[in-house]
Amino acid sequence: MKNWREVESKIKNSKHAVILSHRSPDGDSVGSSLALYHFLKNYISHVQVITPDPAPKFLSCLNGFDAIANYQENETLVNQELQKADLICCLDFNTPSRMGELEKAFQLNQDAYVINIDHHQDPDDFADFQLSETSASSTCQLIFDFIVGLNGRDKISVALGEAMYTGIVTDTGSFRFSSTSKHTHNVVAELIEVGINPGKIHENIYNNFSIDRLKLLGFALDQRFNVYEKYKAAIIYLSEQDLNQFNFQKGDTEGLVNYPLSVANIMMSILITEKDGKVKMSFRSKGDFRVNELSAKYFSGGGHFNAAGGISDVGVLETVKKLEGIFPEYENELNA
Ligand code: 5GP
Ligand code: MN
Repeated sequence: MKNWREVESKIKNSKHAVILSHRSPDGDSVGSSLALYHFLKNYISHVQVITPDPAPKFLSCLNGFDAIANYQENETLVNQELQKADLICCLDFNTPSRMGELEKAFQLNQDAYVINIDHHQDPDDFADFQLSETSASSTCQLIFDFIVGLNGRDKISVALGEAMYTGIVTDTGSFRFSSTSKHTHNVVAELIEVGINPGKIHENIYNNFSIDRLKLLGFALDQRFNVYEKYKAAIIYLSEQDLNQFNFQKGDTEGLVNYPLSVANIMMSILITEKDGKVKMSFRSKGDFRVNELSAKYFSGGGHFNAAGGISDVGVLETVKKLEGIFPEYENELNA
């Protein structure tokens, strides 16, 4: 349902808004949260951005980052915020379960007006106002459309634009992925006109590695990289012990899954990482191979055609074995 007049009135009458993102927040979820935060601050006295678990440090240059509360470390505050909220904005996810534990606190408030802005497939019908477009490069791009829909273009500040650009650039792999459209570039052109400095943002996001992170990348590609030429597939797998060896910080494996796709003829890349005993999977593909289907079928996951995530209920090496057993089922599709 999309009633622009209603959503405009709810925003203008709101006193307490919260913005929620999915587990393991990324550039697009944090970027869209902070972009919407800056926009809503024009109308609402109290706006709180909440993430289920801490946001990665590589985003810490964004204006508003320090005011983000995360449920994992501040459950009491987050519960209070959600109880008081009259407006709840759910960004960059298509179903409340993507918030993990935070979903419970969200469901307790049945009175707030709920907005959902997202670009994942098959959205659940859980919001009063839903702006869901699977063809959009990023949720940040949809935040732009949302602001325009509310006639709020003049509220796009540099701080807002920097957050928005961050989500666009990270979710499009720096404008490489096929989700990048003319509209994506038009939005960015407008942000540059407002005064954002793309070079500075790239510098903050991509040229901000620790030495350990770069060494982890080297180790992963040298020691934990399996190629399956028959299936045009590759796996990178990192145990908790591997990560600890490189003093792992949240965000250090960001982008790692894309490296195998830079090899000609590799159509699918899978990253397996273990943190706090949990095994997380990232899937990427080129062309028509739908990683979200594979991930949904075998790893309780989902996402987009070419970028998906999931979880594995067995250890890292067992997950590698499980995948090796799954590849033959997809041999024809991967070689199409
Ligand atoms: P990433 O590999 O960067 O964690 O996630 C890639 C894409 O898949 C993102 O769009 C993300 O929202 C989605 N995704 C990641 N993990 C999960 C998951 O556990 N379940 C579902 N349904 N989607 C996921
Ligand atoms: Mn996204």
